[in-house]
Amino acid sequence: MLNIVIFGAPGAGKGTQATLLAEKYDFLHVSTGDLLRQEVAMGSALGRRAQDIMNRGDLVGDDIVVPLLDRALRQRSTLPDPDAAIDPWDRERNGMPHRPEGCIIDGFPRTVSQAQTLEFILNRLQRKIDLVIAIDVPRDELVRRIHDRAAVSGRSDDTEEVIRHRLELYDQQTQPVLDYYRVSGLLVSVDGSEMIADTNHRICSVIDAKLKRK
Ligand code: AMP
Repeated sequence: MLNIVIFGAPGAGKGTQATLLAEKYDFLHVSTGDLLRQEVAMGSALGRRAQDIMNRGDLVGDDIVVPLLDRALRQRSTLPDPDAAIDPWDRERNGMPHRPEGCIIDGFPRTVSQAQTLEFILNRLQRKIDLVIAIDVPRDELVRRIHDRAAVSGRSDDTEEVIRHRLELYDQQTQPVLDYYRVSGLLVSVDGSEMIADTNHRICSVIDAKLKRK
C-alpha cells in the first residue's frame, strides 16, 4: 500500500503519468482538476462556483476543492472510513469492488496550507503520504507543451494569457509546497523533459524501489 502525491507545473505531464501509474500498479487515481471539471460538466452548485475561477486560471477556494478530494478519497478508501455506515473491511462480502493497492493524488496540494489539509484528511483514514514525486520540466518546454495541448484539449484554461497566469501562480503558491515535502524527506524529483515513456520509466523505478523497502 503506497500513497503518492504527483507534483509538477502545468504541462509537466502529471495527469498523463498518474493515469499510467494507476493502471500499472492498480492505484486509485484522484485528480482534483478532473473532479472539478466533472462538477462543471454536471452543472452542480460547486461546478458553477468553480467554473469562472478555473477559466481565469486561478486556484479555486479550499471550501470547494477540499470536500471533493475528501469525498473521493473516502468513497474509494482502501482503509476503514471512520464515518462509514458499513464495515469497509467487508467490502468484498458486500459486493463492492476490489481495493486498490494505494492511491495517486494529482493536482493537490497546490499550497502549503493544502499540504497540511491533506495530511489531516489522510490521517483520519489512517493513511499517510509515502512518496512525493516531482516531475521536473524546463519552463520553455512547459510552455511549448501547453500550447500543443491547447490545440487538442478544448480546455478553456489553455489559452496564452491564462497559461502565463497559471505558471505564475505555480511559482508563487505551489513551488513552496516542494520545499515543505523536501524537509519531510518524502520528495523525489524526476526529469520529465523527455518522452512520456522515459519519464514513466524513471518514476516506476522510484516506486519499485519504494515498494521493495516496504
Ligand atoms: P489541473 O487539471 O490540475 O491543471 O487543474 C485545473 C484547474 O483546476 C486549476 O487551474 C485550478 O483552477 C483548479 N484546481 C485543481 N486543483 C486545485 C487545487 N488543489 N486547489 C485549487 N484549485 C485547483
